[in-house]
Amino acid sequence: MEPNAIRARIEELRRALDRYSRQYYLENRSEISDAEYDQLMSELERWEAAFPEFRDPQSPTQVVGGGVSPEFRSVAFQKPVLSLGNLHSYAEFLEYAARVSQWLNQPEPLAWTGELKIDGLSVILDYQHGRLWRAATRGDGLVGEDVTANVREISAIPFQLSEPVSGQFRGEVYMPLSQFEALNRTRAQQGLSLFANPRNAAAGSLRQLDPAVTRERGLRAFVYEIRQLEEGPHLSRQSEVLPQLAAWGFPVESHWRLCASYAEVEAYIREFEEARPPLDFDIDGLVFKLDRLDWQEQLGATQKTPRWAMAYKFPPAEALTRVRDIVISVGRTGTLTPTAELEPVLLAGTRVSRASLHNEDIVRSLDVRVGDSVFVRKAGEIIPEVVRVELSLRPPDAKPFRFPTHCPACGAPVVREPGEASVRCTAGLSCPAQLRESLIHFGSRDAMDIQGLGEKTVDLLLEQGLVSRVSDLYRLSLEALKRLPRFGELSAQNLLNGIAASKARPLSRLIYALGIRFVGEQAALTLAQHFRTMDALEAADEETLESIPDIGPRTARSVRQFFDEPANRRVLAELAALGVNMTEPEHREESQVGPLAGTTVVLTGTLSSMTRKEAEARLQRLGARVTDSVTRQTSWVVYGEKPGSKLARAEALGVPRMNEEEFLAWLGDLEGHA
Ligand code: NAD
Repeated sequence: MEPNAIRARIEELRRALDRYSRQYYLENRSEISDAEYDQLMSELERWEAAFPEFRDPQSPTQVVGGGVSPEFRSVAFQKPVLSLGNLHSYAEFLEYAARVSQWLNQPEPLAWTGELKIDGLSVILDYQHGRLWRAATRGDGLVGEDVTANVREISAIPFQLSEPVSGQFRGEVYMPLSQFEALNRTRAQQGLSLFANPRNAAAGSLRQLDPAVTRERGLRAFVYEIRQLEEGPHLSRQSEVLPQLAAWGFPVESHWRLCASYAEVEAYIREFEEARPPLDFDIDGLVFKLDRLDWQEQLGATQKTPRWAMAYKFPPAEALTRVRDIVISVGRTGTLTPTAELEPVLLAGTRVSRASLHNEDIVRSLDVRVGDSVFVRKAGEIIPEVVRVELSLRPPDAKPFRFPTHCPACGAPVVREPGEASVRCTAGLSCPAQLRESLIHFGSRDAMDIQGLGEKTVDLLLEQGLVSRVSDLYRLSLEALKRLPRFGELSAQNLLNGIAASKARPLSRLIYALGIRFVGEQAALTLAQHFRTMDALEAADEETLESIPDIGPRTARSVRQFFDEPANRRVLAELAALGVNMTEPEHREESQVGPLAGTTVVLTGTLSSMTRKEAEARLQRLGARVTDSVTRQTSWVVYGEKPGSKLARAEALGVPRMNEEEFLAWLGDLEGHA
């Protein structure tokens, strides 16, 4: 190749790696797989080694990848936080170990500790007298992001150690696989974009402005390194460090091993590469660290990596197979999910015959077609996914896949909200795929409050084919219910009484019970108080709906879509004919009377003396409106334990704030006068 062409390729690789690295570290997402990224990096390393004249100290091969988002306070590290060099085979390990022995002038074999390489993100933890006082991400290795408030929400990271040690520790924050699956399931139901793998999910959940989000995400951590210690026991080996960390109360991954011979290193690699024990977290390899700390010190580090440790990366599990069909399933909340049905293929030890295509955009960007040969990969080691199509093997007659315009379960039109990844069925009430959830929600306490209609009963009714839409509940007879397995006369009668009693619920409860997207209890109440009858609500156009205070465009559109679907209107007509109340009783608009009339209050955090519901009810009785978001118009923000970003927002906007004690005194005072 011409020098100019080589230079161009080097620059192209540097630009691409910088871009992927920015996405990965700062935006918590990846356009390419880690293995593909590593391939680009090694190509660049090869070029730079062969053409030293093109070397650059700022090249991605020379610096620790990552950066610091301006959204976080930055933390400067006294000692750089490094990355790790990579090995890809046992033979490479042997070469590396021989080099280390030579550098140290020590006979082989040296002792190594093998550890699992947890696929999460690094955290640097500072403790003073045994108390956590600061936590930071790795950032670019010199400056990290201050994530102390978020790390405090990770219960696995001790706030207080068992001894009053002061020092700096390094560990890895990760998302357990079970948690990752659950999070993506919920996000799919909510029509939110999915995390591609647990690492991105962990990074996205830790690098949050709102610590309450971090708390909900169920992150965990392992700690594996003492970076600095002011005083403490004398430790001379990594194999002493790990038990000491555990003794102080840090979570330490238990599968580490001291390998005194190369045979033990090889056995450790085999064990985790070929017959990995089940783990609830992802690993992307192993880490081998020279056991003796004085030798680690002696070897030191380059600008980017220590010389005394190496990552042993596993080859990615990918396999080539053919797409037999692309099928669409409808989830319990109406989300349409495309799945590729595959010719069965062995992948990382399991037989795979289906792979997720996630959503419409991914199907389109992959341009995957029935008949195509595709590479599938275990994403986050659990749900296999289609990575790319092997175009050279595409049959000439393969046709582009068209995403359905109607729900495959019920035939109702599907919609995709602007800015959302998922496509959803609009027939919430009559779509069989959504029936179970609709029924459970319909009967729940805050909705129609049907006594006796729990999840188990719903399952029984569905199994026996007694209910195929919500309105069928009001057609159930004592005879039919008595015949249900495990149902006696008494429980049958109780359920019937519960159903009969629910007919009188106010319109607001019914609107909420319908499960219209974005219509929570508060919005349902607002709509009911505004329109008073279901007919009036049904007749309202989007513009009218949007003009109602607290009803945003998204909710307005969703309400309209719900009523535009004939199947939903049919169910409502049936409910009315079966005697379900369709009106909201005339009562004083609570927000217009009482000492707090015309005010808006936002609650954040947990109150210790009452539930959120109770607090809301007491405020509403005094005439206040309780809303979710803090704006300049908010009259007060009441905060309890662990308030989220709402409190910070209130501070920023200058909205008056009250803690629980002040709130209680204030309520007591107002209630005394009301
Ligand atoms: P790395 O992930 O290869 O290795 C270093 C990291 O390993 C450390 O920062 C530490 O956080 C972690 N680690 C986990 N367990 C450990 C243990 N027991 N002991 C020591 N360290 C442990 O290096 P990196 O610089 O963090 O990231 C580079 C890698 O990130 C690439 O090789 C690639 O896999 C991935 N990446 C992917 C993309 C993408 O677009 N897909 C972009 C950038 C980086």
